Amino acid sequence: CGIVGYIGYRDAYPIIIKGLHRLEYRGYDSAGIALYDKDLKVYKKAGKVSDLENFVKDVNLKGSIGMGHTRWATHGAPSDRNSHPHSSGDRKLTIIHNGIIENYANIKETLLAKGHVFKSDTDTEVLIHLVEDIQKETGLDLYEAVRITLNKVIGAYAIVIMSADEPDELIAARKGSPMVIGVGKGEYFIASDATPIVEYTKNVIYLNDNEIAQVKRDELLIKNIDNTIQTPYIHELDMKL
Ligand code: GLU
Repeated sequence: CGIVGYIGYRDAYPIIIKGLHRLEYRGYDSAGIALYDKDLKVYKKAGKVSDLENFVKDVNLKGSIGMGHTRWATHGAPSDRNSHPHSSGDRKLTIIHNGIIENYANIKETLLAKGHVFKSDTDTEVLIHLVEDIQKETGLDLYEAVRITLNKVIGAYAIVIMSADEPDELIAARKGSPMVIGVGKGEYFIASDATPIVEYTKNVIYLNDNEIAQVKRDELLIKNIDNTIQTPYIHELDMKL
């Protein structure tokens, strides 16, 4: 339902939590975050963003790269385990997702037969197991493995993926669900609408359907799902806070 991502030089956690609060108006049943600081850490809870804040109040929340999600359940009841982010079997990859993966049951069946163990009842979780599977079989980098994954998917999505093996980038993609990238100096912001971004930058790129972005601290690459490089158009927001 709601997505916030950050990569740059500041602490990601406060930016992400504030952003999730700004997206609360959309409605949601659960919230979760992932942060990278030497290790990929995931915290998630059914309930309000403030319940998530209470849940993590005693843990070390360092990291200048991270993402957060508010979930509106479509597949799997609202619960801690069905909250996003969802991680791969080896826990090196994690994803947040808005939308619905229509062919998730078929993908899940194939992955179960290959020995993948699922930890939630969501449609979302198949995506991250599929990325893991493709990387293990091909040795491809995260960006390319996500591109191949999305070519196998039917449905609507806005996603952000993080990897402990490629910890200096966020991969963002969309089809049928909105996604905005805020362009800063040495930092980028990602969100499902511009409200979490406006206080940091007025320069935004609206990701188009079938585009996949590789977002590094000072480099942004956008490709189409068919592997053609896209030239992003930077819009200037005139929104007031
Ligand atoms: N279909 C996903 C789920 O049920 C994502 C729902 C959403 O957009 O928040 O977990």
